[in-house]
Amino acid sequence: MPKVTIADCAGFCFGVERAIKLVYDARKNHDNVVTFGPIIHNPQAVSDLESMGVFVKNSIGDITSAMTAVIRTHGASKDDAAQLNARAHSVLDATCPFVKKVQSAAQELSKAGYSVVVVGEADHPEVHGIISYIDGEYFNVVSVEEAEKLPERDKYGVVAQTTQNGKAYDEIVSVVKTKAISADVSVAYTICNATHNRQAAALELAKHVDVMIIVGGRNSANTTRLYQLCKAVCERTYHIETKAEVSSVMMADAAHVGISAGASTPNFIVSQVKDYILENGK
Ligand code: SF4
Repeated sequence: MPKVTIADCAGFCFGVERAIKLVYDARKNHDNVVTFGPIIHNPQAVSDLESMGVFVKNSIGDITSAMTAVIRTHGASKDDAAQLNARAHSVLDATCPFVKKVQSAAQELSKAGYSVVVVGEADHPEVHGIISYIDGEYFNVVSVEEAEKLPERDKYGVVAQTTQNGKAYDEIVSVVKTKAISADVSVAYTICNATHNRQAAALELAKHVDVMIIVGGRNSANTTRLYQLCKAVCERTYHIETKAEVSSVMMADAAHVGISAGASTPNFIVSQVKDYILENGK
């Protein structure tokens, strides 16, 4: 039987815990509660809510005046939030306060006349939300290579999607500094500590185990990043959603297995994976 270690800070973060609690409380106090988009990026957590009658609505057109709509952890765009308020019976905001901080930073930089660089994944709802708060010019980049293609501007403001890697962000900021003619670059440090701490703990564990298992939704950006970071130091790193994906091939000859999980992964799923490995590992 392999030794199995769960990394510190694995699983639910403050923002997700808060959002889930808000939805459960909403269900007690309101009829017809829906979430605008999945409340968190974890299919199992979303199914659990569906089994209690809390369904996901992905389109504004599906929101009616009979519904209490919950804005998800990653936030909504300014326009979507306004439309939700106009259509739903009531709106509850489960946007993580750290995500709100990025939205405000982007808005303030744009109001102060900076061209804003949003460092984050273009197709991520959090990034869509952040961009919606920018009134002036903005650029969305996710890598040093993309930052190198930025045009020269008088002054740049930079914000990061909360789940970005701190070191990669610093490298991108260094490149942006070469693009500001006035040398005025205002950087908002908006990466969430929960992400940093989880990444550091997982990375440290991955260096000392034979196999590293990252548990979380395939649609979760922070889970995917955790997988990529660990894969760089532990070749036998696997990204799974549930224990059903653990195979004997993955576990072959592993004396020590490490587990970490993204911010949106419920603790019960992490525990199930650990128990499964302990019961089935040779
Ligand atoms: S990872 Fe950070 S920013 Fe994202 S929901 Fe959790 S606490 Fe908030």
